[in-house]
Amino acid sequence: MQLGFLVVTLVAVFGLGANAEAWCPFGGVEAAYEYVTAGTALCSLGVSNFYILASVLLLTLLLRRVFCGYMCPIGSISELLFDAAKRLGFKPKDVTGTPDRILSLLKYPLLLYILYISWKAAELLFRGFDPVYALISRHGKDITMWSYVALGAVLVGSLFVRIPFCRWLCPMAAVMNPVPRFGLFRIERHGDSCTSCGLCDKVCPVAIPVSQVEVVNHARCYGCMECLEACPPKAQGSLTFGPKLGAAPLRLPQTGVIATILVLVTAAATADHLWPLPSFVKERGIAPAETAFVELGVSDVTCRGSSTGLWNFMQRDDEFALPDYLRLETWPGTDFARVRVIFDANSADAEAVRLAITTPVFTADGDWLVPDYRIEGYDPLGLKEP
Ligand code: SF4
Ligand code: SF4
Repeated sequence: MQLGFLVVTLVAVFGLGANAEAWCPFGGVEAAYEYVTAGTALCSLGVSNFYILASVLLLTLLLRRVFCGYMCPIGSISELLFDAAKRLGFKPKDVTGTPDRILSLLKYPLLLYILYISWKAAELLFRGFDPVYALISRHGKDITMWSYVALGAVLVGSLFVRIPFCRWLCPMAAVMNPVPRFGLFRIERHGDSCTSCGLCDKVCPVAIPVSQVEVVNHARCYGCMECLEACPPKAQGSLTFGPKLGAAPLRLPQTGVIATILVLVTAAATADHLWPLPSFVKERGIAPAETAFVELGVSDVTCRGSSTGLWNFMQRDDEFALPDYLRLETWPGTDFARVRVIFDANSADAEAVRLAITTPVFTADGDWLVPDYRIEGYDPLGLKEP
């Protein structure tokens, strides 16, 4: 599962030029405030971030932090590196107990800081230091050296300590952690068959002392079932993963976990397909009784900033100005992004909209301002499409 999600992510980003950031659940957390208060998602985020965030939180409520154990690309790479380093003879550093608990607290102030700067500046300011963005971004765009430094530190650290970023620093983990406390499924240890061998403690990726508790209530449990796999055959039945159903605990097979993950991820993608709400909306004036709209593929609308640039360009006041009511909705993306322009049907038409977007403006400084924007399949001035 980890490899599958990792390969899909890398192929989508580097093979197909997809914007993986639009499917990051933490993007939904960062974008929520601006979307609710101003109707626009930050940067290149969109409603897909909210759909995947809802799916991940529901998964966490049902099955604990399975997003971390099965889906997150940085967690997968981190685990692969740790296992490879062990095979190559690196001596892993076991950080448990009080140091582990203290380090685990770091992610909470980091989350608050990220939300504070993102919501206050209405920009993804943390992106400049985000190791996950360095991994899944379209490199060369909006990326800083510091995010590569952070990614390098996480990768090198993963050679010596198991998933250090996930355990101690990940802000998405801080968002998820309160949820499993109300969750349905958990690991239970049944003392009558347990031999106290401690193998479950050794394999737990997040250092939970499974052999010392009856119920794993720890928020950081990944639901990865490595403890169940490690439990020796003679102690069969000592560990179960499921809801507590009186005296007969139910063991959910790992295929059930995987099926639930796939169903909820598919549900997020389906919701995005069925209800693709725009991630940028601007409106001028009061909607008249009769409006019309035109949908276009427009180049260079890759984020909130370029959507704002398009909106400002359309506010021109020359002979190509669009009079009266105007509303712009965009779905920022690569190549030609989807754009919908809604206008007063009595004072404009689709051709007027196209001209307003593509015709250069003569500015008060005496210069021609040539638009960055091109419309797919429309080139009245003989300019080349990008
Ligand atoms: S090994 Fe067991 S206790 Fe540890 S994270 Fe995985 S499922 Fe949870
Ligand atoms: S691996 Fe199984 S038998 Fe060993 S301590 Fe854990 S629950 Fe008990």
